[in-house]
Amino acid sequence: MTQRHAEIVGAGFAGLTAACALARRGWSVRVHERAEALRTTGAGIYIYENGLRVLEAVGAYEAAVKGAPFAHTREIRDHRNRTVSTHKWQGSRVFSIVRQTVINALAESARKSGAEIVTDSAAVAASSAGEITLADGKRLKADLVIAADGTNSRLRDSLGLLDRRKPLVDGCTRLLIPKTEDERGQEGATTIEYWSGSRRVLYTPCSPTEVYIALTMLDADDTAKAVPVDKAAWKRWFPYLETLIDRLGDEGRYDRFEYVRLKRWSAGKVAVIGDAAHALPPNIGQGGGCAMMNALSLSVYLDQEKDVPKALEVWERQERPLTEHAQRISLVLGWPTTWPPFIRAKAFALAGRSKWLVRQRTKTALHKPTGT
Ligand SMILES: Cc1cc2nc3c(=O)[nH]c(=O)nc-3n(C[C@H](O)[C@H](O)[C@H](O)COP(=O)(O)OP(=O)(O)OC[C@H]3O[C@@H](n4cnc5c(N)ncnc54)[C@H](O)[C@@H]3O)c2cc1C
Repeated sequence: MTQRHAEIVGAGFAGLTAACALARRGWSVRVHERAEALRTTGAGIYIYENGLRVLEAVGAYEAAVKGAPFAHTREIRDHRNRTVSTHKWQGSRVFSIVRQTVINALAESARKSGAEIVTDSAAVAASSAGEITLADGKRLKADLVIAADGTNSRLRDSLGLLDRRKPLVDGCTRLLIPKTEDERGQEGATTIEYWSGSRRVLYTPCSPTEVYIALTMLDADDTAKAVPVDKAAWKRWFPYLETLIDRLGDEGRYDRFEYVRLKRWSAGKVAVIGDAAHALPPNIGQGGGCAMMNALSLSVYLDQEKDVPKALEVWERQERPLTEHAQRISLVLGWPTTWPPFIRAKAFALAGRSKWLVRQRTKTALHKPTGT
């Protein structure tokens, strides 16, 4: 059989994982990234057992987790700094990692497997016959086109696949800060979620030298979402975190959470993956995990069924339910943001004790992805 060719648009978690997986299965692969370099925003990321298994399957694991601490414990604390819930990841892995490290690891593995990554190359449309149009008007044909161009996906929209796109009530500012001497000496990572009203400070060591800080708030809360961070205001809301808040720098980036649902995940020879297909709020840290799982599984179904549109249908039928579960749980876990603190603390304590709820919350993280 002649070598099959894929054009992939977007070099994020989804596009690069697909590039590795397809190239390792003998496809010729070209990835188009509109930015002039492979840069990622968002500081840190949690990658759970499911995502780590995918990284192993595509040859990027060692480089991705190098130096990243094992994030064994997650604590939730109330406005008085009292612990209301603790979750320990036992018997499965979770790492908190600098995002750029993961992107670099995936890109390196994709290139080693033979994929070409072209930067400064934006695509503006795709056709179900398997063609993409670049911003300079050039058209490229392929056996398979992958739209991995994120939440604002132009390719998805050019195919009319969007069913629902909903900006959510909350958002987040993310940044990295250097570790102190004390923090450098600590083994592993305890993630701590501090709540005060509808605002939250998420503290996560994510490399030998850096801590990942995520500040979450309502999108309508202009003071809380200001960048550079309004330190005086955050210290008023979290007086016991004064020293930590003083360490925040002027960089940082605010993103509003979003939910995306498609009518279908494919049209003819075009598959849509990652946030372009199923953006979800980060309440269970599974946007990247689902993006990587669906990118890998796509290559597996394409191995089993040579007719591309048919393979894409089977892929969606098999894989979509788990991603939709992750989306539902993430949306539900966003509800407490707007609840009164007392009720929220009770709900978190209860949710931490309910085996059924813990199973629902961790189901995606503990899933064994297709192809691993
Ligand atoms: C606050 C926050 C915290 C999160 N925390 C976690 C977490 O802990 N764990 C987790 O698993 N997930 C997390 N997520 C979700 C995760 O970040 C996303 O699901 C993931 O980045 C999606 O990857 P992607 O490749 O689909 O899209 P993106 O990362 O958006 O990548 C898309 C790429 O396509 C490029 N592109 C866009 N348009 C074009 C075009 N027309 N032509 C060419 N290139 C184009 C972009 O430049 C970009 O490089 C979080 C999200 C947020 C907002």
